[in-house]
Amino acid sequence: MNQEKQLSRREVLGGLGASLAVAAVAPVLSADAAENPAEAAPVALENPNEKYPKPPFKSQSQPWPGLASQMEPKPDHGEKSYKGSGRLKGRKALITGGDSGMGRAAAIAYAREGADVAINYLPAEEADAKEVIALIKAEGRKAVAIPGDLRDEAFCQRLVAEAVRQLGGLDILVSNAARQQTRKSILDVTSEDFDATMKTNIYAPFWIIKAALPHMPPGSAIIGTTSEQAMDPSADLYDYAQTKAATTNYVRSLAKQLAPKGIRVNGVAPGPIWTPLQVSGGATQEKLVKFGGDTPMKRPGQPVELASIYVQLADPQASYATGQVYGAMGGNGQP
Ligand code: NAD
Ligand code: MG
Repeated sequence: MNQEKQLSRREVLGGLGASLAVAAVAPVLSADAAENPAEAAPVALENPNEKYPKPPFKSQSQPWPGLASQMEPKPDHGEKSYKGSGRLKGRKALITGGDSGMGRAAAIAYAREGADVAINYLPAEEADAKEVIALIKAEGRKAVAIPGDLRDEAFCQRLVAEAVRQLGGLDILVSNAARQQTRKSILDVTSEDFDATMKTNIYAPFWIIKAALPHMPPGSAIIGTTSEQAMDPSADLYDYAQTKAATTNYVRSLAKQLAPKGIRVNGVAPGPIWTPLQVSGGATQEKLVKFGGDTPMKRPGQPVELASIYVQLADPQASYATGQVYGAMGGNGQP
């Protein structure tokens, strides 16, 4: 590196052409690691298999929708670990289900990448949401909390209007909230159950995207959270799994429809991730104790492990990626 620098200086002083001189002088100017993160100390390599807790997990159950703060072990949403680098500076994001799980990981990462963030969640999740709002504010970004039930069309419209008003616009929409309740048999799925799952997972994104579109300028990004369940449904997730197939499908349809408007639409497809959804009726206790153990990595994912995917899909540098579904499943499945 020293030799390179000396050479660069000599070349510059030796009177090379203007464009070459710019290229040659760059290493000299970027020697300060504070100015160029690529020059900072190397990050130690970690074996992904050993990075996070593995089963067996403690049997645990919370009433729906559950709180991340009550889980054992507590999920990692990037509170301490996610480092930003200004990839979303000045952006304005609305994230549903932003209090916990993937939504919270995206909210923390977006704030650290320089975006202002509004989150939606159910009133019962206020304690989790408060922590997220504090983390966004700690980055010096605007943090907007809009609790309410997405099964109500009028609320979905108010949610978008309020996010637009408080953020001063909207150019990232992460439709991430969902309801998942395990039922051994289709005979156990009541019409109320079925309706609640459809309203939360299919109607709400429809209502929210419709309300948001008129506010989203070219360059905006819509991201849906789908699932491995879209392609490989579990026997006990009859209603939930079909909503995830629908999510993957709407991502691909809307990507085509909105490309002429300059709006990209992509999906994230998680495998088994350690979130409140799983401990509040989303999984049987039998499945929970072994959660993620059947993946090639032999452990569940943590929400933070998907944070950079939500960032990538919103980042204007990914400008040719639309209609894509990006999986993170520990080695199993297909997006
Ligand atoms: P999570 O419980 O942390 O997040 C789900 C959120 O949905 C809740 O925090 C809640 O705020 C919101 N929500 C549910 N019903 C609502 C309603 N009626 N009104 C308003 N908000 C409501 O769990 P998560 O696993 O992070 O879930 C996020 C997304 O990830 C979901 O779309 C889920 O389908 C998907 N997903 C999860 C897994 C997994 O293993 N955890 C796997 C694949 C896909
Ligand atoms: Mg939650």
